[in-house]
Amino acid sequence: MKGAYLYKAPRGTTDILPAEQGYFRYIEERAADICQCYGYKRIDTPLFEDSRLFVRTIGPGTDIVEKETYSFEDRSGQGMTLRPEGTAPICRAYLEHGMHNLPQPVKLYYFAAIFRYERPQKGRYRQHQQFGFEALGEGDPALDAEVIEMAWRFFKSLGLRKISMKVNSIGCRLCRPPYLEKLTEYYSEHIDQMCPECKARFRKNTLRLLDCKKPLCQDTAAGAPKSVQHLCPECKEHFKSVSSYLRLLRVPYKKDHRLVRGLDYYTRTVFEVQPKDEGGAQSALGGGGRYDDLIGELGGKPTPAIGFATGIERIVLNLKEQGIKPPVSDAQGIYVAYLGHEGKAEAVKLTAELRRAGMLVHWSFGNKSLKSQMRQANALGAEFAFIFGEDEVRNGTVMYRDLVEGDQWEVPIDEVVNLLTQV
Ligand code: AMP
Repeated sequence: MKGAYLYKAPRGTTDILPAEQGYFRYIEERAADICQCYGYKRIDTPLFEDSRLFVRTIGPGTDIVEKETYSFEDRSGQGMTLRPEGTAPICRAYLEHGMHNLPQPVKLYYFAAIFRYERPQKGRYRQHQQFGFEALGEGDPALDAEVIEMAWRFFKSLGLRKISMKVNSIGCRLCRPPYLEKLTEYYSEHIDQMCPECKARFRKNTLRLLDCKKPLCQDTAAGAPKSVQHLCPECKEHFKSVSSYLRLLRVPYKKDHRLVRGLDYYTRTVFEVQPKDEGGAQSALGGGGRYDDLIGELGGKPTPAIGFATGIERIVLNLKEQGIKPPVSDAQGIYVAYLGHEGKAEAVKLTAELRRAGMLVHWSFGNKSLKSQMRQANALGAEFAFIFGEDEVRNGTVMYRDLVEGDQWEVPIDEVVNLLTQV
């Protein structure tokens, strides 16, 4: 093929253009505010980790590890994987930095790029941004309820309506295996009532059969044994306590026996926030759960923990669908215009001086006509302009023009900064 190849962002990735940035900043600010209230501190981990970390924690039979990781060998032959989720790296960091010696629970939050080789569709990308938080080193069911309430309050603080909180318990390493046996037995009797994908993962990840979104599988799942009816006494008591704390915290939640989540490491409480009019593809807005065995799996002493994560792009989609716009900053700035060589020199000086005083200042390059500069000032939404014409340069003044009202008057040049900083 002749001519230059037109490069595009890789399939399943998106550019976040300046017009979209307001949504991202809005969400990040609300997230940071909530974390501040609940005592969570920010952590950043590397974009890639030793591949074994994810295989070990997420589970070798999960979709993520089996089909979705971006894995590669680095130049020394070490297997590396671009982070497909945020929890395992944080547990790794918790152990590596001896955070078990700090007062528990250690509360950490993150904003992180996440990579999964998924089939791209609305709300599902190969690179997306997650906000998540983790509380490590505490098993009290009151913490489960607090984490769920925090996730709920975060979505509410964004102004989102029409969302629901679903909660379930999937038991622990003692009560889950016998439950899984019951589930396998049930599904082996209903194998012809499953979609081809579920048939394929039947023996590898039986729990996931419950949350398949296909109508056929949903009908089958409705009659499946429920994990909450097979909990050991400790898990049963834990779930009862979580429910009562949730009521104390006034979180409107629903129990959902089909909620299981996609990763192997979850124990006991799992939860998900879903849009009420769930639009197939982009179902969950966020979710999380307990993972009391994960830190032990990584070689630490048994450490109960719980966390939550949500995809920022998916929140933006929901905000837009609900007509919620991020607040716009009203600083539209100042425009400095000029005519002629000497006017331009004055414009360069004034622009720099105003910026040194912390103001948002635009000016134009390329010696354009005054008309074209004013057009640009309007397009940028500037509130007022300073104009250096020949007369002004000669008089040591500058023309101040109110771009909203249209008034203008001449100001001595050395009074401009004082005038503005006094307003
Ligand atoms: P998960 O780790 O799968 O529980 O994902 C947590 C949250 O991240 C989900 O509830 C979504 O909001 C978001 N998410 C997960 N996968 C994707 C994806 N492929 N594209 C966009 N957002 C995603």
